[in-house]
Amino acid sequence: MEVRIAHLYPNLLNIYADRGNITALRQRCIWRHIDVSIHEFTLGEEPDWDAYDLFYISGGQDREQNLVCSDLSLKSSGLKDAVEGDAVLLSICGGYQLLGDYYRAADGNTIEGIGLFRARTIAGSKRLIGNVVIESLLDGGRLSLAGFENHAGRTYLDHGQEPLGRVVTGYGNNSEDGGEGIVYRNAIGTYMHGPLLPKNTAFADYLLRKALEHHHGEPVELESLDDSVEAHALAVALKLKK
Ligand code: GLN
Repeated sequence: MEVRIAHLYPNLLNIYADRGNITALRQRCIWRHIDVSIHEFTLGEEPDWDAYDLFYISGGQDREQNLVCSDLSLKSSGLKDAVEGDAVLLSICGGYQLLGDYYRAADGNTIEGIGLFRARTIAGSKRLIGNVVIESLLDGGRLSLAGFENHAGRTYLDHGQEPLGRVVTGYGNNSEDGGEGIVYRNAIGTYMHGPLLPKNTAFADYLLRKALEHHHGEPVELESLDDSVEAHALAVALKLKK
């Protein structure tokens, strides 16, 4: 089996070692003898959108978001078409915000998003910082995920849009409505840094399976791995306080 990953703006959007999510995906493929290729694309570089099964865009501060936003608007139709074709997309924090309609920063400046997610983000005065635990119904099951959040932006989903999960610990999208992140087809936005995937292996494998199914056009079942160390890390993270 084979999976192809495109990492967007790795030089600009990569805080809290979010690159670790790519490392986790790669390693889980290697352990299973799945061919994995990872290519990086930054400003001015256009991927061949049909050539990838999973896109990754991570977080960054307002400055980096400003640098990325006009370039991302040029990539908007390619990325949206890929998502409509059931490619997988994982976006974290600042990347998640840029995929919504807009992000209004604390200084009043509005950074336009590409509207892939029907959501908007408005900065508040107090940053929402701390450990976060959510319960997600992704993949038809109750999935407890743990991460770390640090954002000024409050994200509000349009009516009818589905969050990634319900907040158990932490603030989530906006600290008001109990939602965290967003899911649209196989595209996911979340505020969870961490990096997220090394310890949330069920979530990593969910993304990997969807990406493999996108590549091969048929249902895929993943070989299980010895995740005892990762499960221990998750168990500890699930108990952390905000
Ligand atoms: N600049 C955004 C905010 O503070 C995103 C921060 C991030 O990606 N951690 O809301």
